[in-house]
Amino acid sequence: MELLNGKELREKKIEELKSKIEKLNELIGLAVIQVGNDEASNVYIKQKEKLAGRLGYYFIHKKFNESITNEELIDEINKLNNNDQIDGIIVQMPLPKHIDSVKAVNEINEYKDVDGLGFINAGKLMHGEQALVSCTPKGIIDLIDNNGIKIEGQHVVIVGRSILVGKPLACLFTNRNATVTLCHSKTIDLTKYTKEADILVVAVGKKHFITEDMVKDGAVVIDVGINREGKKLYGDVDFDNVSKKASYITPVPGGVGPMTVYELMDNTYKAHILRKKL
Ligand code: NAP
Repeated sequence: MELLNGKELREKKIEELKSKIEKLNELIGLAVIQVGNDEASNVYIKQKEKLAGRLGYYFIHKKFNESITNEELIDEINKLNNNDQIDGIIVQMPLPKHIDSVKAVNEINEYKDVDGLGFINAGKLMHGEQALVSCTPKGIIDLIDNNGIKIEGQHVVIVGRSILVGKPLACLFTNRNATVTLCHSKTIDLTKYTKEADILVVAVGKKHFITEDMVKDGAVVIDVGINREGKKLYGDVDFDNVSKKASYITPVPGGVGPMTVYELMDNTYKAHILRKKL
């Protein structure tokens, strides 16, 4: 079994991105909008701010009280759309229930939509056109590619169909000529599918949901899950037992998570370049 080490790959990729940014010698700007005070969101935003700082990005964190209205939030997004110093905008999820998250995400200018969640970028991805692609799926593909793992012709089974992870990832793998099975909570006999996977990706949000008996010998296992218990993080995969069967596996922490934050910085750099060409 080999570890798919996201932390290590991220460091390598940061150095590559840094040298591109140095050559460019222009200020790149990223804005994060947060509503409320979700604890996990606070941690994720800190990680983003830290990496943005390392890369010399101009970083704005706009944090609003839960009482903000849809209209006020849209106004704030539009201010950032019109701010020429800002290349990338993300709205940190989750949002409070009264906020229309689809509307908010789609208010972000398509060229600044560095989470790739708006209709335009998601549609471009479906068409196989160049797009700003959702960060976690993009990080997973990078992790697989950089470890020399073949995608074409492989049976990829994804558990979890969120708009953030499962759906865009299914699209990316399909565009790369894999055969994709997308599973979810209504899937009947999940193990039947997971056991057939050459590459198994799990994005469910339940600690140790995937056990050894659900995985084929020699499978590549990608664990997206982040489940917090106190200060400890657990994945969706029972790592200790599944790793005995897998050919490659991501640890939690240190697998997909670090790649996600890196991809946001890469998308922001790409958005900067793209916007200058308009
Ligand atoms: P989500 O929106 O809650 O989606 C969870 C998915 O799991 C849904 O599609 C759901 O099916 C499916 N599911 C739930 N129970 C299931 C079951 N018993 N059998 C099969 N499928 C089941 O979650 P998400 O945003 O994709 O995140 C998933 C996990 O990844 C979370 O732990 C999250 O914290 C983590 N995450 C990590 C990163 C990272 O960078 N490492 C990034 C994003 C998310 P239905 O659609 O039928 O409800």
